[in-house]
Amino acid sequence: MAGSRRATAPAQLAVVGAGAAGLYTALSAACVGARVALISATPLAGSSSYWAQGGLAAAMSDQDSPELHLADTVKAGRGATRTSAARTLCLEAPRAVEDLQQLGVRFDADRHGRLALGLEGGHSARRIVHAGGAATGRRLIRQLSALVAEHERIEVLENRRAIAVLTTPERAVGVQLLDGEQIFSAATVLATGGAAALWARTTNPLGATGGGLLLAYNAGAALADLELMQFHPTAVAAPNGADGFLVTEAVRGEGATLRDPSGARFVDELLPRDEVARAVQRQMALTGAPSVDLDMREIDPSLFPNVVSALRSAGIDPERELVPVAPAAHYMMGGIATDLDARTTVPGLYAVGECSCTGLHGANRLASNSLTECFVFGARAARAGQDEPAPAAGLELRRQSTKPPPLASATREALWRHAGLERDLAGLSELLSDPYPLAGLIATSALARTESRGAHQRRDFPSVDPSFNGRHVMLGREHPAAPQIWS
Ligand SMILES: Cc1cc2nc3c(=O)[nH]c(=O)nc-3n(C[C@H](O)[C@H](O)[C@H](O)COP(=O)(O)OP(=O)(O)OC[C@H]3O[C@@H](n4cnc5c(N)ncnc54)[C@H](O)[C@@H]3O)c2cc1C
Repeated sequence: MAGSRRATAPAQLAVVGAGAAGLYTALSAACVGARVALISATPLAGSSSYWAQGGLAAAMSDQDSPELHLADTVKAGRGATRTSAARTLCLEAPRAVEDLQQLGVRFDADRHGRLALGLEGGHSARRIVHAGGAATGRRLIRQLSALVAEHERIEVLENRRAIAVLTTPERAVGVQLLDGEQIFSAATVLATGGAAALWARTTNPLGATGGGLLLAYNAGAALADLELMQFHPTAVAAPNGADGFLVTEAVRGEGATLRDPSGARFVDELLPRDEVARAVQRQMALTGAPSVDLDMREIDPSLFPNVVSALRSAGIDPERELVPVAPAAHYMMGGIATDLDARTTVPGLYAVGECSCTGLHGANRLASNSLTECFVFGARAARAGQDEPAPAAGLELRRQSTKPPPLASATREALWRHAGLERDLAGLSELLSDPYPLAGLIATSALARTESRGAHQRRDFPSVDPSFNGRHVMLGREHPAAPQIWS
């Protein structure tokens, strides 16, 4: 592979991505002595993490426990959760919150100084740790990136894009950047975020198109559960700049309701996301309207200052008016298949955060488990990456593709049409020949799951097939899509 090798010694970890997962992995590794290269393609506000609103889930109160958190996670996952990964998340989440506090993140507290915990759909207890009302992502990213920028063992390569994982026939040894530079490292960690912006209607920043999944796939790593895209029920539906703006589930936790055109409620607003999203979709189909109404008029606006001010800038006053909302692609449960220490199927290559698939979310992510995942599995990747051997000089690198075709709006429309809240054989088959490679891989996975479960609803297979219980659809360059049980 053509490129210029850096003169400096290889880093212990090369981390690609500066969202919550990448920043925290880099800091965790550097804090125990590792030299880290952190590569980010976009400025900070280009990461989904920056926009995260509700917060991160962790059993922090006396009325809660990791076991209850686990039970809720497994229940929401619809029989497809990898229990070992979910257990790891729930047990280690409180420690992650404490560590973030020690790193200087100030979470919202009540007047006694105890964490003010929010409630979201599918949670049986208040356990959403938040900051600045619904500005959790912004606060986290600002603090973590300030620490990263100051850390003497972290070299930040900003506005630089990784276009390939460097591999030998045995393992990953670093990344190739778009400008030709090659960064060699003992462990290479992809923290490149999700893929929801592949769908025409999305809550994600436009860069969230699963580029890291293609890097891993081209390097020979297996992907999993790509058919499992979570649609958020309450994204603003307005013909202006606010279209797709997410109104956090936490407002429904505080009592906001969903209304049909006659003003009647039509769903329990705190059911897990897949059920609420489908109820909204059904309601829209029934009335032919492009949205339903979210009634936040009784909600104290001081609890969600950034949501209220974003809505006001879009010309909607949530204290007086109903907010038009409709589902939008929000979170990819699938991604690069990993074990519980974030190792992919390629030695030396790790994946953390939304680009990874530990299997913990099953077929339907429980709200606010994803930020927690960034921290719990970021810390694990940082620890495991310390033991990887430094790449030797003069390695024979494997040749691989570095240029996927540009993403056209036709692909985004096609995914929305054929791999949206409901899918079937005919539509998914059309996607197989889409020029953007990830669209075909998503369709291949969705075709392999011949059942309906959680976020994946097939018109032609409308029921749960128990033979898929606990199975994850894995596929790789040399492996056809196959549902597998993970321990
Ligand atoms: C509007 C919104 C609200 C949300 N609210 C919540 C919430 O309240 N609670 C919760 O748990 N989850 C929430 N989520 C989901 C959560 O924010 C994400 O799952 C999580 O932040 C993902 O973090 P990440 O670090 O994996 O990826 P990201 O934060 O997306 O970061 C990815 C990084 O990778 C970089 N990158 C990508 N490709 C390359 C490349 N080739 N080379 C170099 N850099 C690259 C990007 O520039 C970016 O810096 C929300 C998501 C959205 C969009």
